[in-house]
Amino acid sequence: MLIFDNLNSSATKSLSNSATNRMRKIEHIGIAVKSLEVSNLLFEKLFGNPPYKEEEVASEGVKTSFFMNGPNKIELLEATNPESPIAKFLEKKGEGIHHIAFDVEDIVSEIDRLKKEGFVVLNETPKKGADNKLVAFLHPKGTNGVLVELCQEIP
Ligand code: ZN
Repeated sequence: MLIFDNLNSSATKSLSNSATNRMRKIEHIGIAVKSLEVSNLLFEKLFGNPPYKEEEVASEGVKTSFFMNGPNKIELLEATNPESPIAKFLEKKGEGIHHIAFDVEDIVSEIDRLKKEGFVVLNETPKKGADNKLVAFLHPKGTNGVLVELCQEIP
């Protein structure tokens, strides 16, 4: 019973720690594609509805489109220049899942928490991403090869 009590109290503690800073839910999944034009049609067929927006993020060298399918959001990303991180990803791995984005309430404090946990944050100052978000990325080397994006809605 003692062991159970210990487990229980540490679980309670981590729950209360995470209550303010946690990654609340998957905000979207990002998929790297060679051609937005081609893949927009493909995903429109898959979901039965067209993308609700297209947006270029020049600073990142990407053009994006967003689909809602029920409660789930999918972001397609196409490179706009050969130096774009998406161009490099496509070269190395081909088309496919590029990142998982988590919604956070306070991106600055979440970056701080994750740094303390030993994760490598690629941009410690959140930057403006697509779809009205402040974003930061964690280095995939520290997360079993998964590129994790934190995003906070800009009010
Ligand atoms: Zn994203």
